[in-house]
Amino acid sequence: MSPTEQERPRLKIAGALDLAPSPESCPVGVPEHIGHFIGGQKVPGREEDRYDNLDPSTGKVLNTVSTANESEVDRAVKAARAALQGPWGKMSGLERGKYLYRIARRMQERGRELAAAETRDNGKPIRETRDFDIPTAAHHFFYYAGWADKLDYALAGRKGRPVGVCGQVIPWNFPLLMASWKLAPALAAGNTCVLKPSETTPLTAALLADILLEVDLPPGVINFVNGFGQTGAAVLGHPDVDKVAFTGSTPVGRAIMRSIAGSGKSATMELGGKGAQIIYADAAIDQAVEGIINGIFFNQGHVCCAGSRLLVEESIAEEVLEKLKLRVQALRIGAPLDKNTDIGAINSKKQLDTVNRYLEIGASEAAEVWQGCANDPPAEGYWVKPTLLIGVSQTDRVVREEIFGPVLSVLTFRTPEEAVKKANDSEYGLACGVWSEKTSRLFETAHALNAGVVWANGYNLFDPSSPFGGVRHSGFGREGGVHGLHPYLRLEA
Ligand code: NAD
Ligand code: MN
Repeated sequence: MSPTEQERPRLKIAGALDLAPSPESCPVGVPEHIGHFIGGQKVPGREEDRYDNLDPSTGKVLNTVSTANESEVDRAVKAARAALQGPWGKMSGLERGKYLYRIARRMQERGRELAAAETRDNGKPIRETRDFDIPTAAHHFFYYAGWADKLDYALAGRKGRPVGVCGQVIPWNFPLLMASWKLAPALAAGNTCVLKPSETTPLTAALLADILLEVDLPPGVINFVNGFGQTGAAVLGHPDVDKVAFTGSTPVGRAIMRSIAGSGKSATMELGGKGAQIIYADAAIDQAVEGIINGIFFNQGHVCCAGSRLLVEESIAEEVLEKLKLRVQALRIGAPLDKNTDIGAINSKKQLDTVNRYLEIGASEAAEVWQGCANDPPAEGYWVKPTLLIGVSQTDRVVREEIFGPVLSVLTFRTPEEAVKKANDSEYGLACGVWSEKTSRLFETAHALNAGVVWANGYNLFDPSSPFGGVRHSGFGREGGVHGLHPYLRLEA
């Protein structure tokens, strides 16, 4: 036992509080079937190729969804082109902004319903959707509404024009928020869109289509087509799509870049990550522990910028791990609609299989595999308890590859140089966190890290005015802030 450890009083688990169930009671109008939204019309889609959309917390069918084929995608692109050549293309920025404000307000007004819907479709806790996903999505529309009539200021005095018809494909981890990141700046800049939600989370886009009808957005400005990768490829590869925006995994991003090479389409890619959290010995440890948990366990680790690698200074490693384990043992896993739930369901059977595969790999690579929680997960549905892989090394697969689940690889370092070297030893470069009491050390470390985003003494903090995006294999282009407008504008010659 080290001397510091002898001095430290032993910590005790507070234990799980015995709380009565507290489910969100807002009724969710889950439509029996989700089709597409094309040219301002909700269309059921073809009878063939329909699939079941599952509730990941039970594994039971939530509803059925249509897949769009090439001709349906073509209709959506034609509708977007017509809107661009029609009233939307001629509308002033001021008028466009009013539509964005209306969408934002309606999202707020229907916030409770949207949160409950997102939770049912995705499996993440209601606390997350209610307090983060939905308000932040609305906030993005508010923010970009303000830009619509000020675009000249976004380009340092130069004039910009919309790029044209935008093809947008998004993942399942933040369905409505990712849609808003893509749609709000595109509309503010005067473009029109065809967006494909993820096949496992089409629900909030369908509800957003209702909102677009409520606010009388001109037909064709936003179109939604549902389906799998093939539909996504049809959207992004359509010859009349001018701009491609993709958020998803790095391999799919690479395939898309190959497919559009030479087409003249512009592109932004928000891809995978393997974020590192560097905890220096002088950090406020209790806050850092909360930050670690927020960075990897909330949202079941389904976060592209998750802090999935912990780099803790050797002298405090034992203390940090002890506190981390205690805190994790107080997290409640289960019913996502329950307001007391901390950890929800893994989004799909496919993702559960992926995470379990990595847990097997971790069992052979790590010195210790530790799992904890306040309670056992339900028998039905897809669940993984928060997991620590302790005693792993830089070359291990669980340290190098994106797991996209509640699994934290724990590594140590002795000097700031070693911390930076280990953090940068990754093909990804999306986000990192640094924890220290010393501001100079925070800045020095942040500047040395190869990442699009570095949070200091915090993690997973988002604001619509702040740009987000990666470097290296995490992609290129920024979403959020004035930077997020630029990919949707073409400089006038
Ligand atoms: P994915 O790449 O499998 O799918 C993402 C989307 O692309 C889905 O809508 C899917 O249907 C579609 N798609 C699949 N193949 C396609 C193809 N060939 N052409 C066009 N579209 C295609 O990723 P996922 O499993 O849904 O999401 C998890 C991944 O997304 C993780 O790697 C995560 O890091 C990444 N992600 C990144 C960010 C970011 O901002 N950088 C945000 C969220 C998620
Ligand atoms: Mn679903």
